[in-house]
Amino acid sequence: MPNRPRPLVAGNWKMNGASASLQELMAIGQGFMSGLDAETEALLCVPATLLSRASEILSRTPIRSGGQDCHWQQSGPHTGDISAEMLKDAGASHVIVGHSERRTDHGEDDALVAAKVAAALRHGLTPILCVGEGLDVREAGRHVEHTLAQVDAALDGVSTDDAAGIVIAYEPVWAIGTGKVATPDDAQEVCGAIRRRLRALYDAAVADRVRILYGGSVNAKNVGELMAQPDVDGGLVGGASLDADGFAALCKNAG
Ligand code: PEP
Repeated sequence: MPNRPRPLVAGNWKMNGASASLQELMAIGQGFMSGLDAETEALLCVPATLLSRASEILSRTPIRSGGQDCHWQQSGPHTGDISAEMLKDAGASHVIVGHSERRTDHGEDDALVAAKVAAALRHGLTPILCVGEGLDVREAGRHVEHTLAQVDAALDGVSTDDAAGIVIAYEPVWAIGTGKVATPDDAQEVCGAIRRRLRALYDAAVADRVRILYGGSVNAKNVGELMAQPDVDGGLVGGASLDADGFAALCKNAG
């Protein structure tokens, strides 16, 4: 039985939060400082407008900060976009790429997501690659093949060394922000298939090192049974990461 990777809980604040929310960040950081969640690694992906200040606050805690998206190029005429290099400069260690809300709201396809994974890796950021099916695909019973095709496309050209450091989040779109969480068996079915695909694309060492998260209405109550699955190494958490007490409880129950 390979060693399980250390659990990772990544919060995604999405388009929520302004200066006043930095108090909440401090409270989350203090919860970790008290040793509450030593078993679990935690990360908060905040809006770009807060990233520098959040990184500064969180640098005094074990929690890391991340961005929610990056452009695939380093710089240039892309009004409103932010590069991986800029996120790194603002203190991020990770960046979410290919979130379903980006795929839907901004028409991001697998080729663009692959270019963003490559950009993140080039600039020393850990990509959190989001994959997962919509309700129509799930109802057609094609969720595993659909999700694995997204993994294949996003990792095209990623070396074995780089692959070992990435994080993959399986997020069924029908479970995001809906309160409709996947069953632990549903989460395990796809996370296990992703692990096997990593073994086939790379090797067993890479497959065992990559952290595979489940995302979609995770909260302090359901995280324990999700994490009990052999191939669920953590959670990508939207709504439940916005409140300090709730997020601390979630991280504690994930460990
Ligand atoms: C997400 O933002 O990726 C997410 C899973 O959101 P929620 O936890 O609110 O479903």
